[in-house]
Amino acid sequence: MSQYVKDLMAEVKAKNPAEPEFHQAVEEVAASLSLVLERHPEYRAAKILERILEPERVILFRVPWVDDQGEVHINRGYRIEMNSAIGPYKGGLRFHPSVNLGILKFLAFEQVFKNSLTTLPMGGGKGGSDFDPKGKSDLKIMRFCQAFMSELYRHIGPDTDVPAGDIGVGGREIGYLFGQYKKLKNEFTGVLTGKGLNWGGSLIRPEATGYGSVYFASEMLSTKNTTLEGKKCLVSGSGNVAQYTVEKINQLGGKVLTLSDSNGYIFDEKGIDAEKLAFIMELKNVRRGRIKEYTDKYKSAVFFPADPKLDYNPLWNHKADCAFPSATQNEINGKDAQNLLNNGILCVSEGANMPTTLEGVNIFLAAKLLYGPGKAANAGGVAVSGLEMAQNSMRLPWTKEEVDNRLKLIMNKIHTTCMTMADRFGTPGNYVNGANIGGFLKVADAMIDQGVV
Ligand code: NAP
Repeated sequence: MSQYVKDLMAEVKAKNPAEPEFHQAVEEVAASLSLVLERHPEYRAAKILERILEPERVILFRVPWVDDQGEVHINRGYRIEMNSAIGPYKGGLRFHPSVNLGILKFLAFEQVFKNSLTTLPMGGGKGGSDFDPKGKSDLKIMRFCQAFMSELYRHIGPDTDVPAGDIGVGGREIGYLFGQYKKLKNEFTGVLTGKGLNWGGSLIRPEATGYGSVYFASEMLSTKNTTLEGKKCLVSGSGNVAQYTVEKINQLGGKVLTLSDSNGYIFDEKGIDAEKLAFIMELKNVRRGRIKEYTDKYKSAVFFPADPKLDYNPLWNHKADCAFPSATQNEINGKDAQNLLNNGILCVSEGANMPTTLEGVNIFLAAKLLYGPGKAANAGGVAVSGLEMAQNSMRLPWTKEEVDNRLKLIMNKIHTTCMTMADRFGTPGNYVNGANIGGFLKVADAMIDQGVV
């Protein structure tokens, strides 16, 4: 670690105590950017990185709501408006009991670089609440979403800040949030993305993050003259990103062996084909059940309950060619990374945000694995959100083919940017450096153009 990064990290930790995920995200980016800052003293002189680290605005608010039994609940709401140098703040909302300021700041920070990589004009933001939607009735979810939007609406807008979904926020929640925004503002605008198709949504938006992560993996594999055809794949999670990752892997001839939720994972040596995926989608999106139920229906599969005493995740300890972590942050630690390598993994494409610890990342990089970090590999979701904003502005919807082709093209461009930047800064094949540097340069130049604001 260079002295500059050491000093920077000491300051970040002192100023932002008890935010380990934010420290982790900054450390990874700062290590890559030290290569750029050596060659471009103008960025250091303008304190660009120091400015990017500080959110432009943090909004923290009370969300009081009453459940269907008349009980009063208080949750905490957040919106981190991180950087608007290249466009309105853009990034998802996460509803999960683990949500806190540090987690949302790491996500907002990553989002700045990711959005820049998409080639579209979007700044970075993130938000959410410590509300837990799991097991709650639709009525409770609606009441919470309405209470959340009753404060958030005054801070967002189609040219200011455009939230979307993330963990715990899918089509149902976006619908309730949009309904309340429309009522309060008396206007029908593209203020949220991930909307329903009948009211301003884009085709392929639900699929986009998972499809994009698989397109990115295909791009990485093509550099070794191979494809996903016949490849065994490990996928974690079973939500939005995981489901469409499985769909695209199947379409491209791969075989998915695993899926998970917070209670454990299933291993199906016969593969999770289209029919089994339809069962998962119904289980997770309609019945809102647990992944274990898969083994009641499909006897070829085994369920492994999550064991908090283990210092590794056995999901990553099966023989496979490709891994698609698609659940949450820090789900691959150093030991998991080593297990993946020992089992002959070729490629890791991150559908989730920061699913690999710094130790795991360093193990992948040292092994020169095809390793696509989240800010590049999962950028397809926000890219199609950007396309949804474009369609809303034109008041014209595009066809499925049009959006999917644009998504493929964007993932291809992100891959090329990563490769080019990694080469240019002396670390060929290092997608982490490529993504961090590629994302940074556009934002940094825009910040210099716009002065110290
Ligand atoms: P989702 O639909 O809510 O699904 C999340 C999945 O991950 C669920 O299976 C959930 O299991 C599991 N999970 C969540 N927290 C967990 C934890 N602490 N331990 C174990 N499992 C956990 O969310 P999603 O939209 O697919 O998002 C998944 C990841 O992709 C996140 O890192 C998100 O930031 C990232 N991402 C999403 C998008 C997007 O467009 N949605 C775009 C870019 C990146 P339970 O149901 O048991 O909690």
